Amino acid sequence: MNKPHIVILGAGYGGIMTAVKLQKQLGQNEAEITLVHKYDYHFQTSCLHENAAGTLHQDSSKIKIKDIINRSKINFIIDEVVSIKREAKKIKLKNRKLHYDLLVIGMGPEPNTEGIPGLNEYTYSITDINSARFIREHIEYNFASYANDIKKDESKLNIVIGGGGILGVEFAGELINQIPVMCREYDVEKTLVHLYMLEENTSLLQKFDEDLAHYAITSLQSRGVEIIHQAKLKECQDNKVIYEVEGKEHVIASHTFIWTGGVQANPVFEKSGLNLKNKRIEVYSNMLSTKDDSIFVVGDCAYTANENGEEILPTAKKAIGEAAVVARNISLRLKNKELTSCQPVKQGMLATLGRDDGVATIQNHKVFGWKAVLIKRISDNHYLYKLGGWNLLLKKGNFHLL
Ligand SMILES: Cc1cc2nc3c(=O)[nH]c(=O)nc-3n(C[C@H](O)[C@H](O)[C@H](O)COP(=O)(O)OP(=O)(O)OC[C@H]3O[C@@H](n4cnc5c(N)ncnc54)[C@H](O)[C@@H]3O)c2cc1C
Repeated sequence: MNKPHIVILGAGYGGIMTAVKLQKQLGQNEAEITLVHKYDYHFQTSCLHENAAGTLHQDSSKIKIKDIINRSKINFIIDEVVSIKREAKKIKLKNRKLHYDLLVIGMGPEPNTEGIPGLNEYTYSITDINSARFIREHIEYNFASYANDIKKDESKLNIVIGGGGILGVEFAGELINQIPVMCREYDVEKTLVHLYMLEENTSLLQKFDEDLAHYAITSLQSRGVEIIHQAKLKECQDNKVIYEVEGKEHVIASHTFIWTGGVQANPVFEKSGLNLKNKRIEVYSNMLSTKDDSIFVVGDCAYTANENGEEILPTAKKAIGEAAVVARNISLRLKNKELTSCQPVKQGMLATLGRDDGVATIQNHKVFGWKAVLIKRISDNHYLYKLGGWNLLLKKGNFHLL
């Protein structure tokens, strides 16, 4: 009898953890497992803002997939998913086609450009290792270019971050620490560099407690981030950002606009005909799609809610917790047993503000400063241990706790 074919799309936190769990839970004769991912490495998305700011080299965030999967149990294909044909249970990749019996979608989100003119063309988003490296090199190039100008163009030293959510705030916190280092490297006068943050609300970190948001604003401003509240982005061009505050238009001359303002559905699953809710795939508590009972969904792709019906925020912790449930439910499904439910993760909130500052709520306690960073480092290291044991932790762990 043919073994059922399980295909996992995307090796982010959710996809790779599902694969690692399945390789432990299933025997070689029970199923054929295939993991499809764009790159030959998994990356720690939650460190990308450090890679983009240049405070952490991108190689530290990369983990070779062959080092963590058992290739006698998992076929690994480096390719890009183009479409999912659910009726035929087929996946179209750029270079081949695959048939599946059970599918796990873990492809994460796409940046949301919200139809604002010029956003697609002239902004940068922190989405993967290549985009993070590109942002760092682009900023450095502009510093180098300014230093080399005969007629100095100061707009090369203006950096604009659009969106004051977690990602924007974390990136600003890293970058403002790195600017003095770059100024020394490229012989640039520090007072000429401006780091702006445009936020359309009256505060940053909307989903955080007010005290934490206030702390974050004060921390960033004290180090020189110029936060512009109630700034409604109107348009982006290759050398300027146009925004409005209380109906009045303003322009910042800049070659560097980093957009962190939200995500949208990945076009692959958007076209697949699955039920979507708030740009994610609607799932039952057992992580099966509400439209197709041969498709499990994990991580940022999956729309899940807590007992009060409130959306659970997409985080690495959510993706990792769901991966354990998806792997267990695949094993149960193969044995024709009843599937288990995913318990909503207890959500803490955490945003780092650079190497030694941050804010967090852990079990309703507010945490400020270095303690928040320590929590983040411990949680990143714990993840590495879960993924690849002591070997991976010792190879890739971040032990510069502060
Ligand atoms: C800069 C940054 C900082 C963050 N900080 C934190 C934090 O401190 N704590 C926290 O909990 N969360 C944080 N998050 C959120 C967290 O990273 C996400 O919630 C988490 O990555 C979701 O995991 P996932 O597996 O669903 O998706 P992802 O980790 O995004 O993985 C999806 C993978 O699928 C691949 N993929 C996508 N499309 C295709 C395709 N068509 N074909 C093949 N492969 C594809 C992608 O390359 C990607 O590797 C941060 C996010 C960012 C961007």
